[in-house]
Parts: sequence; structure tokens; C-alpha cells
Amino acid sequence: MFIPEEKISEILRTSDIVEIVSESVILKKSGQNYFGLCPFHSEKTPSFSVNSAKQIFHCFGCGAGGNSLSFIMKYHGLSFPEAARMLARKYNVVIDTQHLDPARKKQLALRESLLRINRKVMDRYQTHLQKDPAGHSARQYLENRGITSATLDEFHLGFALDQWEDMVGFLKKARISRQAALNSGLVKPRENRPGFYDRFRNRIMFPIFDINMQVAGFGGRVMDDQMPKYMNSPETPVYSKTRILYGLHAAKAHCRSQGGVHIVEGYFDFLTLYQNGIKNTVATLGTALTPEHVRILKGYAPTMILVFDSDAAGIAAARRSIQTFMNEGVETRILILPRGEDPDTFVLKNGPDAFLQQADNARSVMPFLRQVAMETHGSSVTGRARVLADILPYLADIQDSALRSLHINELAETLNIDEAAVLEKVREQVVKSKTTRDRRPDTEPSNSELSSDPRERQLLSLMLQWPHIISGVADSGVLDYFYSQTLSRIGQFMVQADPDPDAFVSRIMAGMETDADRDLVASLAMTDGLEDNTDLEDAAAAIIQRIIRIRKKNDSGLTAEIKRAEKCCDTDLMELLKLKQQEIRQLHNGQ
Ligand SMILES: [Zn+2]
Repeated sequence: MFIPEEKISEILRTSDIVEIVSESVILKKSGQNYFGLCPFHSEKTPSFSVNSAKQIFHCFGCGAGGNSLSFIMKYHGLSFPEAARMLARKYNVVIDTQHLDPARKKQLALRESLLRINRKVMDRYQTHLQKDPAGHSARQYLENRGITSATLDEFHLGFALDQWEDMVGFLKKARISRQAALNSGLVKPRENRPGFYDRFRNRIMFPIFDINMQVAGFGGRVMDDQMPKYMNSPETPVYSKTRILYGLHAAKAHCRSQGGVHIVEGYFDFLTLYQNGIKNTVATLGTALTPEHVRILKGYAPTMILVFDSDAAGIAAARRSIQTFMNEGVETRILILPRGEDPDTFVLKNGPDAFLQQADNARSVMPFLRQVAMETHGSSVTGRARVLADILPYLADIQDSALRSLHINELAETLNIDEAAVLEKVREQVVKSKTTRDRRPDTEPSNSELSSDPRERQLLSLMLQWPHIISGVADSGVLDYFYSQTLSRIGQFMVQADPDPDAFVSRIMAGMETDADRDLVASLAMTDGLEDNTDLEDAAAAIIQRIIRIRKKNDSGLTAEIKRAEKCCDTDLMELLKLKQQEIRQLHNGQ
């Protein structure tokens, strides 16, 4: 533990998991639990549950589980101390960092120093834009593009001077170490001689915020036709382009209230839409949408409208993204703007209402794909065959059979092909993609513990939820009879823990060493397997008795046989029996 145990307990006692998860997952209450779409695997129906009384989450789909701390770790990709500090800040728990081990302390210090540097640098770029005479052309440029000063302020836009060592000098003066400066990605080492130079020069600067409103990195855009038009910070310990979406920090509340999000490509697309009241918008910043992006967005909006330019590159990008969205099971529509327009120019020319009208008419995925394929391949016999081939993989991916047959029917009609023939092709495709899918490495956790004696799991479930029975369980010695080493270990851990029921599950989780163990504890805590009106103590006693009786019987039976074989000098039989005994043990240990 890098943070004192009692601090972890304090954090777990004061934080509220429903509140924490709600920040990134849309939750609906159902019975005792809250349910939502799991942010850790792709799914269309919610199997991710949060239990307020136990302060834990558990996904019935992928098995992920934990307490508020492990949720923050998993979701934001943070280390344990980072997650603890994040929650501590949020719930006003004071942590003294003297207890951190040196390596972690260094890592933490690096992240924090990068965030601090970025914040300072953001202010500097902003001053360049607003006050520096050299920023005049940039101010003019932004004004010409219709960006208001209120928007400039809200998103802290700035300007990088047309100099090679402005940032180098600034960081030096601010006493930022060379290593920290390099880590920030703001400066690069010179190639042929010692020293550094500025990564961003003569560019409009867009700070990129993470959802906690911290400056994770920067994007810079030239004001003329120079290439590259856009340049972003490299990957750093605080900036990951596969996770960050531009503008989400400001848009997230609007995405929630509108129930949808517009996904655009560029900074100016975002700013113009936002400024014109279409605030449920994010930008992808030139990187292809990743499954992480989609999972993060799912937490704010159930439907997504992908907005693309009508040029070939835009359409190709739309097609590429569709697979990601379909895999994540998100309701997606595609908006291709009229030829020659991007969201920015379209709104400036036609106003926000015209844009929203276009968005209302955005086509869903299948009609979009159909039309693109038909425009590409034409309506000759071979053309139509190619259209069918293009669409097949997408049709095969639709899980809902009624919806799939509807699309098959539509496609057959548009292409004037026999519906049965299309259906046959889709079936072939389903088999094909299923086998390739099966060959993929298994992403679902295969928990061999699940197959061991269900009574062991049930007993631990009861202990987790009613800690007052733990001392009785310990006295019975039943944990020594467990087939599953993992369950036995978790049971022993509970025996050692403070049996105070307050945040008990959560505290047990905090003591687990691996994610797999934490997930297991969450799943154990979500079910008790008790029938209504069963007396808890009776149930526990019955389970204990049965486990011990069966183990003793199994073991003594085999041991007796082995002894007999030994006596009769039947070594073959003896070996066989010993093997069997070993096998049984291994089987039950789930190894
Ligand atoms: Zn899941």
C-alpha cells in the first residue's frame, strides 16, 4: 500500500459509487441496482450494474467489477495511488504523500508536472494571441473564420510564435527540467547539434482538455496552406489520442441532456457548432475513431451522429468508423454534408437550424452504406454483385434477426435480386465471420474458478455481505477444505479483515492484489443465492457442513483404496488411483 490503509477506507466510506460511475455511464435504476452499458466491453443491452448499498460495480457480461477506486483506475487508466488521489480531491480527503514509494512518487510527480507545465504553456499561448503584436495575424485569421472572443476565451485558444526557441526559453525560465520539457512534447531535440527547438511554431493553438478539465495536450493549426495543416501533441503520460476527444469536457452535459452527440473532425467544426448553440458536439482531431472513444461517448449519449465531408476521403472515413460503432452496438447515423461543405462552412453559410435539419435527416448506417456502394459500383449486373459483396459483412454483423431480415429485404428490392439468394449469402458470411471471430484471442475473462464447487462461491458471497458470520466460518475450518485456492485465499483475507459492515465489500476489494481477484469479489458480492425466508445462519451452517462432509468422503474413499492397492502390491492400480486423486484436486483447483 502506497497510501495508508485508513485513508483508503476513508475515501471508500465518503465516496459514492453511483455518483462516480454516473459521470461516465448513463445509469438507470432497476430494483436494488443501477444498470447501464458497460464501459469495459461492447454491448447493446445493459449488463453493467452498480449497487449503492454495497458500493460496488459488476458487469454480468465481461465480469469486470470493483469499488469506486477500481472503477476510476480502470476507466481513466490510472494507477492505484492516482485514482485514490483523484477521489480524495473530489471528496475532500487529505492524503499525505510521504507514504508513497519512490517509483510511484516519481511517476505521479511526472504526471502532475506535465499538467502544470501544460497549464502554464496554455496561458502563455493565450497571451501571445491576445496581447502580442505578433499575434495580430492569428487574431485576424480567427475573426475571419467567425470565432467570437467569448469562444476564444472559453476554449483558451492561443498562438505559438513564429520562433524556434520561444518555448524552449520559456520552459527554461520557468525552471522546468530538460527531461520534463521533453516529456511534455512541446520541444524536440535538435538533430545535428545539442539543444532543443519548439514543436509548435506559427500556429493557432488549441489546448486539449481531458474530462477533468486538465490540459492534456495541444493541437496547432497553420493559417495558410502549409503542411501539415494540423499537428497535435505526441503521446505523453497525460495525453492519449485514442482516448481524448476535443471538446468533450464542455460538451458532456449537453450530450446527456440532448441524448445524442455530433462527431466532427476538426477544431473549427467543433468551435463553430458549439458557438452556434449545437453544443452536443465533439471532434476527433484527425485520428480514426477508436473503440475507446466510442465507449467513452456511450457514457454521455445513446445516439451518435457522425458528420463527414462529402469528398471521397470523408466517405471512406465514415465507412471505416461504421465498423467500430457497430461493434460497440451504438445507434449511429451518418450525416454527409452537401458537396464542398464541412460542418464549419455549412453552419457559417446556412445557420445552425439548417444544420440541425440535415442532422435530423441523417441516414442510419445501412441505407448510407447501400447508397455509397451503389454510387461506387453502378447498377450493371457486376455492379450490383459488388454492392452486395460490399454490404454483406455489415449485414452479417447485425445481431437483431428481425432488423437483419428487414435490411435484407430492402437490399434485395433495391438491387432487384431474389431475397432468398441474399439471405443465403448473408448466412455464409455469418458462418465465415463467426469462425474468424472465434479464432480471435478471447477477450472475455475465462474464469475457471466459476466451474469449481458452487458452494464455495456461495459461502464467500454470504461472508462478504454479512461479515458477522465470518468468525463462525473461520472456526469451522471449512476454508482449508476449499478446492479453489483463490476462493480459499479470499476467504482467509476476509477472516483477517475488520468485520465492520460499513463498506466491507469495498475494503475487501481494496486488499485484492489482482484485477481478476477484485472482479471475482465483485461478482461474489452481487449475488447471494439465498431463497427468500431462508435463515442466514442456517444456510451458512448447511453449506459448511456439506463442503466438509463431501471433501472428507471423497478423500478418505480414495485414500482407503490407495492403501488397499498398496497392501496387495498392486502398484499399477496404486499409481492410477494416485493420479486420479491428483486430477480431482487439480480439477477443483481450477488450474
Ligand atoms: Zn462489461
